[in-house]
Amino acid sequence: MTENDDTVLIVGGGPAGMAAAIALSRAGLRCEIVELAPDARPGGVGIALQSAPLRATMALGLYDRILAVGRPHRTIDMVRADGTPVAELPQVNVNGPEDPPFVGMARETLHELMADEVHRLGVPVRLGTTIAASTPADDHVDVELTDGTRGRWSWIVAADGLHSTTRARLLPGAPDPQYSGQSIWRAEAACPERLEHYTMMIGGPLRLGLVPLPGGRLYLWLLDALVGPERPPRDRMLGMFLERLAAFGGFAPEIAAGFDDVAQVDFRALQWLVVPPPWHAGRTLLIGDAVHGTTPHLAYGAGLALEDAVVLGELAGQGLAFEELAARLAERRFARARRIVEASLQLSRWEQEPGPPNPEAGALTAATMASTAEPI
Ligand SMILES: Cc1cc2nc3c(=O)[nH]c(=O)nc-3n(C[C@H](O)[C@H](O)[C@H](O)COP(=O)(O)OP(=O)(O)OC[C@H]3O[C@@H](n4cnc5c(N)ncnc54)[C@H](O)[C@@H]3O)c2cc1C
Repeated sequence: MTENDDTVLIVGGGPAGMAAAIALSRAGLRCEIVELAPDARPGGVGIALQSAPLRATMALGLYDRILAVGRPHRTIDMVRADGTPVAELPQVNVNGPEDPPFVGMARETLHELMADEVHRLGVPVRLGTTIAASTPADDHVDVELTDGTRGRWSWIVAADGLHSTTRARLLPGAPDPQYSGQSIWRAEAACPERLEHYTMMIGGPLRLGLVPLPGGRLYLWLLDALVGPERPPRDRMLGMFLERLAAFGGFAPEIAAGFDDVAQVDFRALQWLVVPPPWHAGRTLLIGDAVHGTTPHLAYGAGLALEDAVVLGELAGQGLAFEELAARLAERRFARARRIVEASLQLSRWEQEPGPPNPEAGALTAATMASTAEPI
């Protein structure tokens, strides 16, 4: 059997799992996805794809469709809490001068676009299903699924996210995700007409991000170093969110007036994770948040997942045996992933320090983003 006859079971239908299915299918392998959630809707509100991840979407054949449904951005406006502009920061662009440095879109939109491509490539997706038991042999793995069916695949890709049960089972020495000290509030709103640029407002221990999306919508995020990791009680969520928004001027009061229901607000404690290689055991390899979870300070977690998938597809296309493929994947990806996670965490820690913003934050952001131009 040549490697391109390999069949791959992918665990998880998030960005990493779907991108892996697309990349492996393009390399000629047959794949199938099992996704635990019965409806596979993405968590969260909006997402930004940076320039190097956009380059990865070119390799996945998704770039033009992403540009068609996303909103391109070239700069970030830094603004004081009262609405006073501070600076307009150009963003790193690793692609051509006509390509946007980053694109914002609804999470749902990215999910649907990738799910359409998975479907177009003929990859079966079983929702509400996962692995019940797996038995690796020399050149295959026998799997029993929770829907009662059994199958044999050449190997498994685990893309089951930050709280990966595959990681817990197969890499028992791997660290667990850790709380960064910040939590995040997220919401979607109508975008004020005059708000055209991605805008970041700095209010001491609070940071507000306003990301215009297509169709007059807005993705709002609010980083919070005061609230702690516990989800506030439901009856207090909306009030606490609005209290925090009230610390900001500029467009914030107009946007805040559109929130009257707790269902509009998402809250999450920010965690991070870096798993040192190996990222495989038996005939299962791990990608995406399952091995490198980042805080969103560089908006790069899904970007890393997309890049993992591109490298996976490239290695699979070279006809490598599983062990070598898995080892080379982690070797190619670990340093880059660690750099993004550690820089994001450092930015988070600086934001938690009392006093004015740390003057080194701009340089760290610029250097880390510039480094993403390196080939993956
Ligand atoms: C607040 C916040 C903002 C962010 N903003 C950005 C951004 O702007 N840009 C960016 O690039 N990244 C961003 N990220 C990061 C990004 O969301 C993640 O890095 C990305 O979703 C990781 O993709 P994944 O497929 O590895 O994991 P997930 O997205 O977690 O997907 C895992 C999938 O596996 C499924 N699953 C779990 N367990 C099992 C199981 N046992 N069997 C089968 N299926 C299973 C889950 O249901 C899920 O569908 C942000 C993250 C956060 C928290």
